[in-house]
Amino acid sequence: MRLALAKSSEQSRSAPETISMKYYIQTYGCQMNYSDSERITTVLKQMGYEKTDGYADADLILLNTCSIKQKAENKIYGLGEQFAPMKKRNPNLRIGITGCMIRDESGARGDVKHEVFKTMPTIDFVFRIKDLMQLPNILFKLHGSKGGDEFKNLCDYFHISPTITNLSQAFIPISNGCNNFCSYCIVPYARGREECRKMSEILDEVKKVAKRGAVEINLVGQNVSTYNAKDADQDSQESHFAQLLRKIDTVEGIDRIRFYTVHPKDITDDVIDLYGKLPSMVPHIHLPLQSGSEAVLKRMNRLYTPDRFRELVKKLRIKIPHISISTDIIVGFCGETEEEFMESCNIIEELKIDLIYVSKYSERKGTLAHKKLDDDVPETIKKERFLRITELMKNISHDYNQNFKGKKVKVLVERIRKGYADGKIPEFKMTRFKASDPKLIGKYVEIEVDKCMEWCLEGEPA
Ligand code: SF4
Repeated sequence: MRLALAKSSEQSRSAPETISMKYYIQTYGCQMNYSDSERITTVLKQMGYEKTDGYADADLILLNTCSIKQKAENKIYGLGEQFAPMKKRNPNLRIGITGCMIRDESGARGDVKHEVFKTMPTIDFVFRIKDLMQLPNILFKLHGSKGGDEFKNLCDYFHISPTITNLSQAFIPISNGCNNFCSYCIVPYARGREECRKMSEILDEVKKVAKRGAVEINLVGQNVSTYNAKDADQDSQESHFAQLLRKIDTVEGIDRIRFYTVHPKDITDDVIDLYGKLPSMVPHIHLPLQSGSEAVLKRMNRLYTPDRFRELVKKLRIKIPHISISTDIIVGFCGETEEEFMESCNIIEELKIDLIYVSKYSERKGTLAHKKLDDDVPETIKKERFLRITELMKNISHDYNQNFKGKKVKVLVERIRKGYADGKIPEFKMTRFKASDPKLIGKYVEIEVDKCMEWCLEGEPA
């Protein structure tokens, strides 16, 4: 974007000087936030801002935040001090926050009251992601910038096309918000109730990205299993999410579909039935368990039992015997006893879950757990349980990965670093091979696997 700068009286006789305005977006957290940042980029580009790769020469810094844990929020608060000298060096610099930390109102400092303004005096504005259409207005006040008028009349941010950075893999939101109130989770307060996009809009976006070269579609939403579209076939017995998957599978060029995240209480049999049937459904699912103890699941308000989870895994393995299953586990949740923790370890071992994202419970203000339960597991125990379950997962993952030894796998290359190209195979395993050509990014390369470690596979082009 170009900004007319005020001039001294001596300079004012000449034409006004303009400078180019640059933006930098720092994205934290889940795939949903990365997808949201692609939509923010579209708005900023439309307003004439140019992208820069770091804080140093930015005139606009946007922090797209995650608040799943208090630690994630504290990290953002910790940045506050760093911004003061930057603002001294560049008086045009404006800094804003969006994402899950912004739960109440959107606007500039002085126009709205927000907790974040008290803690971070260097922040100029905040906006809820669902108010993205208001961003041009906010920036107009702060920077005197124009443009972005076409976003004013949009009723929701889904109508803003994303600026895709990775052409071969697209992250496409199908819903935003959540109607579940898991007792530890801040998301329903941060993003509000679930709102689903029309199926036709999602399909249009899939077709658009497929034309530009996308081969892998990642559908994102807090709970994709409850996807509910006004324009789905309401007479069909099939769930709306299953209908959507079937339609995407027919889009030319798309040969991998992934989705994040299903909820074990809501995933339907018709979605499970599509595994092994639709060619683009990858042999991997992320099925968040959170705890293997029925009592802990109750305290977490998850509304399913470990047996329901067992039953789902069994059904999935009937469809694809070697399906890769990843999960989330929280250790040290309120009142978690050693026995309850062991129930998590036992179910992971029993079901051979090959990848776990483990987190230590951290209390979030405003959640049901914060209001009603005691965060009473000492930090040392949380840490110890974290290490124990991680060790267990490493062993299971190592064993599972041996299945790939000597096999040929198709890697979709995501990056080149330290002399290796790496990317995922359909089973979601990071796989690398020696290469340095950046042109490989976004391409499929067939690899013969010769090393199978816990965290990745390695091999040579076949
Ligand atoms: S399903 Fe539960 S954990 Fe997931 S976003 Fe909703 S409230 Fe949070």
